[in-house]
Parts: sequence; structure tokens; C-alpha cells
Amino acid sequence: MATSRILVADDDEAVLESVTWLLQENGYDVVPARGGHACLEQLERRAPDLLLLDILMPDADGCQILERIKGEERWRDLPVLMLSAQPPEEASVRSLGLGAADFIRKPYRPKELLARVQAQLRTGALLRTTRLALLRTEEALARAQQDADSRRKLVDILHEVTGDLSVTELLHLLVRRAARALNVSHCSVVLAQPGDVQGTVVAAFEDPSLQQLTVRLERYPELRLALESGQPLLIEDVDTHPVYDEVRPVWEREGIDVAIRSVIALPFSIDRQQYGVFLVRRTRGQERFGPQDLEFAEAVITAAVAVIQRAQLVEHTMADNARLEQLAQTDPLTQLLNRRALTERITAEMERALRYDSTLALLMIDLDHFKAINDTWGHLVGDDVLRDVAQLLGQTIRLSDIVARYGGEEFLILLPETDDEGAEAFAERIRAAVEGHAFARDSLTEPLRLTASVGVAVFPAAGVENVEDLFARADAALYRAKADGRNRVRM
Ligand code: GH3
Ligand code: MG
Ligand code: MG
Repeated sequence: MATSRILVADDDEAVLESVTWLLQENGYDVVPARGGHACLEQLERRAPDLLLLDILMPDADGCQILERIKGEERWRDLPVLMLSAQPPEEASVRSLGLGAADFIRKPYRPKELLARVQAQLRTGALLRTTRLALLRTEEALARAQQDADSRRKLVDILHEVTGDLSVTELLHLLVRRAARALNVSHCSVVLAQPGDVQGTVVAAFEDPSLQQLTVRLERYPELRLALESGQPLLIEDVDTHPVYDEVRPVWEREGIDVAIRSVIALPFSIDRQQYGVFLVRRTRGQERFGPQDLEFAEAVITAAVAVIQRAQLVEHTMADNARLEQLAQTDPLTQLLNRRALTERITAEMERALRYDSTLALLMIDLDHFKAINDTWGHLVGDDVLRDVAQLLGQTIRLSDIVARYGGEEFLILLPETDDEGAEAFAERIRAAVEGHAFARDSLTEPLRLTASVGVAVFPAAGVENVEDLFARADAALYRAKADGRNRVRM
């Protein structure tokens, strides 16, 4: 540890000499100052680790000097030991109030003086380290604040990037917000696979109307390098960076005046399918990019890619869900609604009918002697015929009606806002349509003929409380139609 430097200020020659000698003997570096002015002079020249200050001096009042020292920022932490022959209470109270570290009475006792000097030097050192640590903490805080600001900017950039925007819209938004946050004139996203000869600029801040611009990658060696290396590229100066060595002669030959000075090229991939480069550039008039800009741009593109991935995932999941829901409601053979889906619709329609004091009808249709079709022509022809029947039924209904396959060779038709009379007439039309239809097939020598029996149930009706009751009613009516000879309608 370096020797502590102690400034001793006293007008009394004898005291000055003896204190100086005592401190030097104990290994301190001592600077004696004869009187107040000399003391201030020495202080100006170089601040000591400790000041021993006499209170009563002919040229200056020690307490005034103390006050002045404590009033200055640069000496604020300097421990000052007051030395005086004044009555202790009065002098010590006054000087301690002014910021003195301690007070020693003259005539002093050497051991006491040394002990107090040591104590004050220790405290002073501690104070300095603490203050340094505090300073570092403040700096760290300032840095954290800056980081937080960057992150806030980032969040700000990506805040809008959450709704249901398409990927292209997301990229347009990204270049706009990133350009603002990075304070750049040029910011774009170029899509290309590593090794491609062409790339597509899908969004550019400098040209917001730009849709899809094809660029030849041989003209943009920074794009090629970023794509092929997969590494972020920071080009502080376009004039000197080796990546442009091969194109510089081309610029010269073609008289191209390159306005760009500094470039950041960040490669990215979305789900390892779409590859591209996030390109940020500054012109000659602007500040060059540094490592912090690169770091920030990387954070932006990483977050943006995550957002885009999430957006795509949501898009796919929504599409998948819709598809699955569709599948769950559809009969695979005929593409009609299945029984489950129709049951849900009937429930909803029954509630509506009650609420609006309306009626609805359910038709249960069963093909007559269908087993014979399978037996004669085979199951595949049977399937074809079922598909044809489904189509025929679909053509016969109104827009608000719903056809479903109940199972096997049985179909259902739901007729909202239809009473007994209307339902019976409609059922008859269906029956006639099936009977009148010729089911032609390439594999058949002559068209097939079919008939159907139809059972009709209507809601509301006595004893029909729910969907099951309605099905049971229609089923019973169908049974009567069969029993009465088939190819007929029964209520
Ligand atoms: P009924 O007039 O009494 O209704 O006589 P049916 O032969 O139509 O009635 P049944 O219920 O005895 O037989 C129904 C037949 O429908 C049995 C089955 O081979 C056939 N079938 C049911 N589902 C399908 C299918 O998905 N494809 C084919 N090809 N045939 C089916
Ligand atoms: Mg049947
Ligand atoms: Mg049948």
C-alpha cells in the first residue's frame, strides 16, 4: 500500500517540527505548511490523505479553512483533524460541526495523536472505496437504464406486431419500427436461401410502397456472406471492408456513387424454411454503426422472428382447428353433416322455435330395399348411389334446410320454420325426387331405380320435449311408412 500523505498546517514552528518528525518516524509522508495560506497552497497542489489543521493561526482562522475545504466537492472526503490549544469543548464543538473528523488538544500526547491519525486514515480509505463502489453502482444503474430503454424500444417495436397480421405486413411493420428505433435511413428485409442468385426484398423502410423486388445477389456481397455464413455482419465502413473488394471495381466502372457508409446484415430463418437477411444501413452523413447497434439490431430481429413464428403457428393452428372441426362434423362418404352435428343444430333450432313461437320439422328418410342394391351390384356401387342420393337431397332443399346422414342408408332433413302441412308436402317432394331419379353409372348397363320411405315429426307437439323425442317420433313415422308398403310418407 502506498504511504499515506499527511498535510500538517500550524503557525507554531515548534509544533510543526515535532508533529512532522513524529509522523515521519512512523512511516508517513508529511507535508508541513506554515500557516493557513501555505496550507491552502499545498492543498491546491495535491490533495493529501489527511489534514492536521491548527485552529488558531495569525494569517487565517483554521475553522474558516475547514469550512472552505468541506464546501468544495474535490476535498469533501478529506479527513481533517483539528489541532488546538483552545478550550476543548468550544473548539471541538465548532470544528466538528463544520465537518472536522476529530479534534486533538495541544499540547498533544504523541501516542494519542498517532492513534487518531491512523483511525482517520482508515476511515478515509473506507470512505473512498465506498464512494468508488457507489460510483460504479451508479454507472451500472445508468447502463441498466439504457438496456431498459433499448428493451422498451424493442417492446414498442413489437407491440403492434401481435395482432392477426400476415407475415408480409409484419415485416413492413418491423422495418418501419426498427428504422425509427435505430435511427437509420435504410432498413429492409430480403428473403433468399443460402446459395440463391436472386433475393426478394419484401419490405423496405426507404420505400414503403415496395411489394416484391427481385435483386441480384452478386451485387450485394454482404447479403450473400450473411446468408452463407449464417453470422451477423457488421460493416462499419463500406469503403474499406473487404467484403466489397470484388464489387468496388464494378461501382467504379459503372460510375455508381455509393451513398451507404455503414451496414448491418443479420441473417435469420423462420422455422428453417424461410431464410432471409435483415439489412440496416446508414448513409455517409450519418454516424457509423458500432457493436451496440449490432447487438440491438440482433435483439430486434430475434424478437421479430419469434413473433412471426408465433403468428404463423397461430395461423396454422387456427386453420387446423377449423379443419378438424369440419372433419368432426362431416360424414366422410357423402360429405353431408353427420348425425352428431345435426343433433346440435336441431337442439339450437328447437330453442329458437320456442323463443320465436315458430315450428320446425324433421324428416327421416330410409332407402327401400337397399341391401338388394349391394347384393346385386356390389358395395362400391352402393356407396356411389348413397353419394348420389346425398346430392339429390342437397339439390331439393331450401337454403335454410339442413341435410345429414343419419347412418347407413338413412338420411335426415331439418326444416326450420315449417309446420305439419309444409313438412308433409316437402317429404312428398323428396320421395318423388328419389323415385324419379335414374342412378346412372358407367359400370352399369342400365340406370338404377330406387325408392325411399319418409317419416315426419314436427316440433312443438304434445309429448315432444327434446331432440330424442323428436327422433323417436320421426322413427316411428318411418316405421309406419315401411309397414304400409314403402315408397311413402307418414307423419
Ligand atoms: P328396408 O327397405 O327395410 O329399409 O330394406 P333395406 O335393405 O334398405 O334395410 P336394411 O336395414 O336391412 O339394410 C340396409 C343396408 O344398407 C345394409 C347395408 O348393406 C347397406 N348399407 C348401410 N350403409 C352402407 C354404406 O355405407 N355403403 C353401402 N354400400 N351400403 C350400406
Ligand atoms: Mg335402414
Ligand atoms: Mg332401408
